[in-house]
Amino acid sequence: KAESTLSIVVVGASGELARKKIFPSLFALFYEDCLPKNFTIFGYARSTMTDEELRNMISRGLTCRIDKRKNCNEKMDQFLQRCFYHSGQYSSEDHFSKLDKKLKEKEGGRSSNRLFYLSIPPSIFVDAVRCARRRASSEQGWTRVIVEKPFGRDSKSSVELTRGLKQYLSEDQIFRIDHYLGEELIENLLVLRFSNLVFEPLWSRNYIRNVQVTFSEDIGIEGRGKYFDNYGIIRDIMQNHLLQILALFAMETPVSLDAEDIRNEKVKVLRSMRPLQLEDVVVGQYKGCTEGITSYPAYTDDPNVTKNSLTPTFAAATFFINNARWDGVPFLMIAGKGLHSKRAEVRVQFRHVPGNLYKQKFGTDLDKATNELVLRSQPDEAVYLKINNKVPGLGLRLDCSDLNLLYKSRYPREVPDAYERLLLDAVEGERRLFIRSDELDAAWALFTPLLKELEEKKVMPELYPYGSRGPEGVHYLAAKHNVRWGDLSCDDL
Ligand code: NAP
Repeated sequence: KAESTLSIVVVGASGELARKKIFPSLFALFYEDCLPKNFTIFGYARSTMTDEELRNMISRGLTCRIDKRKNCNEKMDQFLQRCFYHSGQYSSEDHFSKLDKKLKEKEGGRSSNRLFYLSIPPSIFVDAVRCARRRASSEQGWTRVIVEKPFGRDSKSSVELTRGLKQYLSEDQIFRIDHYLGEELIENLLVLRFSNLVFEPLWSRNYIRNVQVTFSEDIGIEGRGKYFDNYGIIRDIMQNHLLQILALFAMETPVSLDAEDIRNEKVKVLRSMRPLQLEDVVVGQYKGCTEGITSYPAYTDDPNVTKNSLTPTFAAATFFINNARWDGVPFLMIAGKGLHSKRAEVRVQFRHVPGNLYKQKFGTDLDKATNELVLRSQPDEAVYLKINNKVPGLGLRLDCSDLNLLYKSRYPREVPDAYERLLLDAVEGERRLFIRSDELDAAWALFTPLLKELEEKKVMPELYPYGSRGPEGVHYLAAKHNVRWGDLSCDDL
């Protein structure tokens, strides 16, 4: 390991993602001694920049973890000295040859592995991959490419993109990144389920009434109108992040923790789902509103969004999985921007206790008596189980309380950013949290008919005020499946 070198090329290094996430995550890995001893980082983009200018840009985004401030500045300097810049076009093989020459100089004749991170718009993915593969791939070690979403807009464009990439790369060289899969919640979902006796026996239609996967943001699109208006919330959040969580939640037990075993189970469960239809979905768009002296913008106020845009900023959908484990259980997904809170969680609502002896004590609202398991990643990490409990004292009064694991109390150390975990996995060749092409095909097959129908029928999104709980239609959708959204029984943590 000491003798081989690692070269990381951030393609699109002048962009926001590179500045805010990729370089800081690489620094965090360096700080934690997770990168090989000999490594070099190159930024590649069209903008003209010197090495020093790149370093200045990167240094503004670097921070050290709260518990590791000791030799922070020294570490930052050491890291920045390993960062270089090469300016070039994304479709020029000649420019990539020049990059290759510089990489070889830094690698100093040692066997080297090369990781390219494509942090550029998808329209130029294939060009950049062609040039990197032909002119700058590793001669002795491995060459891997991390690809950022969006992976197409529908089944057809996704297949075309995959075909384009596979002209130059094999499947095991492609690391399709979905940064939500790098969140603590995701790793813990599998640990909780498969390493505790108490959960897995309950993980089926016999005990689970419904599952809710929620992602809400209390901000709007914040100047990302050009990108967002072309995609909308269903493509931006649901088809990838939320569906991935759902697949991990609902899959059968994999043969092992190996990437291929896990991905095989995910594909199976995705293929058991019924493609979404219009009646399974509610779409919404936030409108402007004024509260006191503060005015909040409408989605269509963004300068890059047309006034009559029908792009949804909110969507709720109900999935069903046609297999023995989940037959008839609604999986509710909700994703929205400009809502009242920032929340990302999986909420599992269990069935009623049959013949509940305490029925009288719950009054008519028996929903309040059902247990819930919540796995939350935002606003902060927590796992809690809602249980019914006797209030201490004379008499018999019941209360709903939480068995609670709040990460910041139990694990005071900072949780690593999702990009850190995923970058490290790509360096180590761990593919478990990256998306395989057949998974992607199965995911698009579920959403493409719906997306087409929404566009062809020009379905009007229901308008909801910025900062509200979203469109009213959600409650009707949930009621259709006998579900009430969100917290039912007692105050959340
Ligand atoms: P960006 O700033 O729009 O693009 C990154 C760089 O690509 C730019 O600095 C620019 O560099 C080059 N570029 C931009 N538009 C181009 C065009 N039309 N033709 C050729 N080059 C172009 O994007 P980003 O926010 O950093 O994100 C990078 C990629 O990750 C995008 O594909 C995005 O969809 C995806 N993504 C972003 C986020 C996020 O949080 N920002 C999250 C998930 C996924 P030069 O002009 O210097 O060449």
